[in-house]
Formats: sequence, structure tokens, C-alpha cells
Amino acid sequence: MYDTIIIGAGCAGLAAAMYAGRLNMKTLMIGDNIGGTIALTDVVENYPGFIRLTGQELADNLRKHAESYNIEKAEAKVTKIRHEHNCFIAETNEGKTYQSRTIIFATGTEWRKLNITGEAEFANKGVHYCALCDGVIYNGRIVAVVGGGDSAAKEALLMSQYASKVYSIVRGEKLRGEPINNDRVAKNPKIEVIIKVNVKQIIGDKIVKGVVLDKPINGSTTLSLDAIFVAIGHIALSQLVKDIGVATNKKGEIIIDRQSKTNIPGFFAAGDVCDTVFKQAITGVSEAVTAVYSAYTYVNENEFICPIGNEDLMAKSNKNT
Ligand SMILES: Cc1cc2nc3c(=O)[nH]c(=O)nc-3n(C[C@H](O)[C@H](O)[C@H](O)COP(=O)(O)OP(=O)(O)OC[C@H]3O[C@@H](n4cnc5c(N)ncnc54)[C@H](O)[C@@H]3O)c2cc1C
Repeated sequence: MYDTIIIGAGCAGLAAAMYAGRLNMKTLMIGDNIGGTIALTDVVENYPGFIRLTGQELADNLRKHAESYNIEKAEAKVTKIRHEHNCFIAETNEGKTYQSRTIIFATGTEWRKLNITGEAEFANKGVHYCALCDGVIYNGRIVAVVGGGDSAAKEALLMSQYASKVYSIVRGEKLRGEPINNDRVAKNPKIEVIIKVNVKQIIGDKIVKGVVLDKPINGSTTLSLDAIFVAIGHIALSQLVKDIGVATNKKGEIIIDRQSKTNIPGFFAAGDVCDTVFKQAITGVSEAVTAVYSAYTYVNENEFICPIGNEDLMAKSNKNT
């Protein structure tokens, strides 16, 4: 029986693991991709205490810090969560089940898709969602980054290190990145920002050859490209919590309060999966440590009646799977 099971091993999950270990809580962190989204980010310049480091370095630091305490880890995917009496049971894709008094849910998000013709057909053949992962393939080529937020601005800046030309395709009236990134984009001779335009279709022949736009640019609605990087936001990975009645907003983000509490006692959430408007590594980390403190208080203040009341039975159930 764990005091807390942390589901997710991105910055929020790792920070939660570090803090829970520090508070001597019996802790299990389950995550299928240690480091999460930040590890796929080129540079991070806004995490307090580090003027500039790579996303992978930040992820590694967070992981090492968590591992410096007495926590357990399972590299697996949680496939179901059950809530019985006042305990939680997490089932994984490895067929194991784990019980806990509390859950800290930090599963983050998945890439939002354009949902247009050609996107699925040319996935990984010129349609990509992560410049750090796939950008280098397009050395000296022409690419587009679609999206109007700070992530899109950063993806365009990174792609300008590889590509000969980067179109930044923005649906709105302007790129809405952090001012420092907007300035970098504006001053970058390789990046051309195209505003008030939508991508209607991705075209190609085995690999991407271009996109069709909803209004002409330089006299044509077809833009020839070698690749398109989609950076139009994320969708919360909250499907698992719906089975146990955790409240989400219309976007599927988990609703938390300032203590990182959800509507279900003992169930806390943190990071990009939550309804917080400003989603950054530092905000996720902050929600995570707040969630741990709330879980710690909750464990100390409650009596627990669990479906399988002793650890031997639990160990047996894991052994049999
Ligand atoms: C291009 C880009 C650039 C960015 N740049 C910055 C920046 O410069 N500074 C900054 O502060 N932020 C930046 N961000 C935002 C930042 O990356 C996120 O806010 C942060 O990484 C979210 O962390 P998280 O732990 O909530 O989620 P994630 O990092 O997405 O982690 C979720 C974790 O949950 C795991 N998981 C999901 N489902 C399950 C399951 N069912 N079972 C088990 N595990 C599961 C995943 O494998 C992963 O380990 C950027 C984002 C992008 C896309």
C-alpha cells in the first residue's frame, strides 16, 4: 500500500516524486516516458535557477533529484484507475495493480492534430509534431511551422537552425509567443511569418510536397514544402480519470484548486493535464509540490479502508501477473 501513486513522469510527476520522497511518503511513480514533454524541448530559458539549459538537461536534473530520495518507479502505462472505499487502485499495461491512499495525476497532454486531409497519410513522412525530434532531417530544406503560440515560435526558431527557409503559418493576426521569442523570429532572416491563414490540406506523393492554404500567398494557395511541423497546442490526457468521476472542464482538463485538489478526496493533479491557463514547466512543478503537500496532509488526517487490506495479498497479486 503506497501513500501516493504519481501517474506521469514529466516535470510535474518528477517534482512530485522528489517532494513525496522528501516527506517520507511511501511513493510509487508510474510513467511510460521519463522526462515527458520538456525533454523534447530544445532550450529552456525561463526555469528559475537556470539561465539556460536544454530541456533534456532539465528533465535529467529533475529525475536525478527525485531518485536521490527513497521512491519507487515503474516504467509502465496506467490503463485503468479504480476508486474503492477511500483507496485507489492503478492497473498498468504490464498487468500489475498497485494500491494507494492518494493519487497525484500528472499525465500531461498529447499533440493537437490539424485533422485535415493528408495529416495522417504523411505522418512521419513530412508531417511532424516535434522539431527537436525530427527537425534535423530537413537540413537545407523548406519547412513550415503551423501555430501561433510560444511553442510554435520556439519550434520555428529551432527549425531555422536546420532549414533553408521556415514559414511560420499563423491563423490569427500575429504570432503570440513570449516577446523575446517574437523578436527573435522577427529578426531571423530565414523565418517568414504568414498571418491570417489556415492550412486546408497537406499534399504529396509518398512524402510531403506542400500544403494548400485557404487564401493565396504570393499569388498561389499552394505552398511547396518538404515538411510541416504542427504546433497548435495540446489535448489533456485525462481519459483515465473520467471513470472515477474526476471533474474536467470542456477541454477535458482536470479542474484543480489552489491546493491541487480535484473534486475527489485523495485525488490530486498537476501540470499540463490541469485547467491552469499558463502551462509551463515551472507552473507544473509548483502544482505538483502543492499536490504532494495536500496528499501528505490528507494521508495523515484520514483512516483508510482498502479493498485488499494487506501488502502480502498485494504482492501476491503482482506476482501472479
Ligand atoms: C515546443 C515546446 C516548447 C516548450 N518550451 C518551454 C519552455 O521553454 N519553458 C517551459 O517552462 N515550458 C516549456 N514548454 C511547456 C512544458 O514542456 C510543459 O508545460 C511541461 O513539460 C508539462 O509537464 P507535465 O509533467 O505536466 O507533462 P508531460 O511533460 O507531458 O509529462 C506527462 C508524463 O505522463 C506520462 N503519461 C501519460 N499518460 C500516462 C499513463 N496513462 N500512464 C503512465 N504515464 C503516463 C508521459 O509519458 C509523461 O511522462 C514547452 C512545450 C513545448 C511543446
